[in-house]
Amino acid sequence: MKYDDTNIFARILRGELPAHKVYEDDTAIAFMDLMPQGTGHTLVLPRAPSRNLLDADPATFGPLMAVVQKIARATKEAFAADGVTVMQFNEPAAGQTVYHLHVHVLPRFEGVALKPHTGQMEKPEVLAANAEKIRAVLANS
Ligand code: 5GP
Repeated sequence: MKYDDTNIFARILRGELPAHKVYEDDTAIAFMDLMPQGTGHTLVLPRAPSRNLLDADPATFGPLMAVVQKIARATKEAFAADGVTVMQFNEPAAGQTVYHLHVHVLPRFEGVALKPHTGQMEKPEVLAANAEKIRAVLANS
């Protein structure tokens, strides 16, 4: 299937829709997931358009994973997490719901299960406070 540049993440990348951003550079952007599966659930997207991993230019992955690592480390520290889960879905059968390549970064806590995927919307003030915690760690690293 072809990339559709009206998808919600393309609109966030163009600045047409708001997001609680924690990081951006020339290649990638990271912001809070609107329906987090856990505290600090962050999404990392390459700026380069692709529907998902299957149609992406392999040159995308190096810079993208460097940002995923940066966000994984920062979220683990920001929320004093015990570990980090990294997830990425391709096509509806695999759970993908937004069709611009993105990687989920989820701080994990011993004994705490993930909430359902695309479940409940988090309060904006909680997302803003969590984004601020991650930005503060990144600013000091
Ligand atoms: P996917 O299912 O495509 O891997 O993940 C899409 C993710 O984007 C879901 O975790 C969902 O909660 C999140 N999401 C959906 N719409 C929005 C939105 O408008 N803003 C943000 N920040 N996240 C969104």
